[in-house]
Amino acid sequence: MSATDQAQAAIPFYAEQADECRVFEHAFRQRLPVLLKGPTGCGKTRFVEHMAARLGRPLITVSCHDDLTAADLVGRFLIGDGNTVWSDGPLARAVRQGALCYLDEVVEARKDTTVVLHPLTDDRRILPIERTGELLQAPPGFMLVVSYNPGYQNLLKNLKPSTRQRFVALGFDYPVADVEQRIIEKEAHASPELATRLVRLATALRRLTDQDLEETVSTRLLVVAGRLIVAGLDERTACRAAIVDALTDDHDTAAALDEVVQAVW
Ligand code: ADP
Repeated sequence: MSATDQAQAAIPFYAEQADECRVFEHAFRQRLPVLLKGPTGCGKTRFVEHMAARLGRPLITVSCHDDLTAADLVGRFLIGDGNTVWSDGPLARAVRQGALCYLDEVVEARKDTTVVLHPLTDDRRILPIERTGELLQAPPGFMLVVSYNPGYQNLLKNLKPSTRQRFVALGFDYPVADVEQRIIEKEAHASPELATRLVRLATALRRLTDQDLEETVSTRLLVVAGRLIVAGLDERTACRAAIVDALTDDHDTAAALDEVVQAVW
């Protein structure tokens, strides 16, 4: 393997949907933070992994949840053997290392986290650590990337305009059919026939939405179904487990989705 091949092998596969890679690269060079919005399982995390590798930056990912506080991101004093030691949280570590820091589902985090994010998202690019009195200046390699899923429709959990307007925004959706097919072939080692079939299933299922489903079938679920089928599970059982039961707990809705699966297979 040549050096170039090795470098490319280390970059996670990502099938581009539009020109998001170019926009992201420009944002990185201009030291601007980026907001990725789109439904779950459409490739946002993979995109960030791909871009971090392409830009040669380390990546620190935080999955945000409703208990996540500013201290979880910035750091805290830990007590051990009678003395206290400062321990950096993931955000402080990313700033010190000049890494990409990806806050997945940022709206889930407690509101006090936005206070620490704001000075990092404007020209100052600083992270004040109140507890230690430090003021970290982010190096050029640092970039803040956050994602959120506008489809959850939780009004309380939307990003405030004052926060979102600090970010360059990139909208994601499920890829168009030929791109999604390529992803399934690559990620699940599926044959072109199997990948085409799964994309056809996705198209049919996505038409059904908005009734009883909170979310529809994602590229991730199609990849999982493909992997199960490639591993030897029959198509209907694989789709039931990876797609239908993953999408709903409701018996009638599951039966309706199952009918679509059976029509495709
Ligand atoms: P999200 O972060 O939007 O929830 P992920 O990035 O975790 O979604 O994507 C889930 C899986 O779907 C990935 O692990 C990958 O297998 C596949 N995938 C989705 N979109 C793409 C894409 N554009 N390129 C490559 N793989 C993709």
